[in-house]
Amino acid sequence: MDFYCVKCREHKKGITNFEKVTWKNGRHAAKAVCPDCGTNMNKIVAAE
Ligand SMILES: [Zn+2]
Repeated sequence: MDFYCVKCREHKKGITNFEKVTWKNGRHAAKAVCPDCGTNMNKIVAAE
């Protein structure tokens, strides 16, 4: 899955160690850690 790192200001492609989460507002998202700088990255994904 691709994530955008706000610290590196670039997209990280092919992240495999992400975790799916559901926010309090009901949106489904995925979170991962940037392999380059360690910043948390979040991405909204479609509900399955
Ligand atoms: Zn980064």
